[in-house]
Amino acid sequence: MSRILILMYHIIDRARAKQEAKFCLSPDRFEAQMRFLHESGKNLLSLDQIATAIEGKSAWPTTGVAVTFDDGFRDTFHHALPVLTRYNIPATMFMLADRIGANNNWMTPRGFPERELMTQSEMLEMQAAGVCIGSHTCSHPNLPQLDAENTMAEIRMSREKLQTLTGSDVNHFAYPFGLYDDKTLMAVAAAGYRTACSTRSGFNGEGIDPYLLRRIEIYGNDTLWQFKQKLKFGSNDMSYTFPLRYYTGRVLSRFGRK
Ligand SMILES: [Zn+2]
Repeated sequence: MSRILILMYHIIDRARAKQEAKFCLSPDRFEAQMRFLHESGKNLLSLDQIATAIEGKSAWPTTGVAVTFDDGFRDTFHHALPVLTRYNIPATMFMLADRIGANNNWMTPRGFPERELMTQSEMLEMQAAGVCIGSHTCSHPNLPQLDAENTMAEIRMSREKLQTLTGSDVNHFAYPFGLYDDKTLMAVAAAGYRTACSTRSGFNGEGIDPYLLRRIEIYGNDTLWQFKQKLKFGSNDMSYTFPLRYYTGRVLSRFGRK
């Protein structure tokens, strides 16, 4: 059974306010995590490689780690790109097609500090450095709250706009706020994406729904130890008692408890 992890990052910068601390990973911590992935010899994968395995065109690797970023924050251009390049780590950046060069206006009404999103030239520089550009819709809506027509527009138009801006196929999607419903899933498939990332945690492998890929969220206060635990157990829940509960669950399942 394949155990592929997809990591999810947002802001690579020091937190400016309490509200955003969870989503802000300091550049030092990000560097330490990427260095660990590189030096520990992890099988680093692109989402294209995972899609190819899902589509049955290649064998599933036994293990692997993919790196993704949501929203296209400008600090990822300044703080993450040099690190990804240094350690040769494939990554995907999920961009908002109508917010390029703008700000995080879906967060500021909830008390988050304003932050800039990447400009078009920064996005293209990332792409030229090997970062895959994916879609995170046009405007970061709560998709289940939209009607079918607007859902389709957000999902299809963002793909078309990003393809025009990048001159490349945009094959991967991530749900804003991790929220989706049946019509969202249908729209992502109809728009021609190969995969879509959710925020459900866990490993990916044989039989995974391509439009419900699982991701592990890396929080701003995760220590390197917690990061390694997340890689090991495929869970966001890295309290100190988690490994015990994990192994207890595995032992019980061996005795016939599902
Ligand atoms: Zn987002």
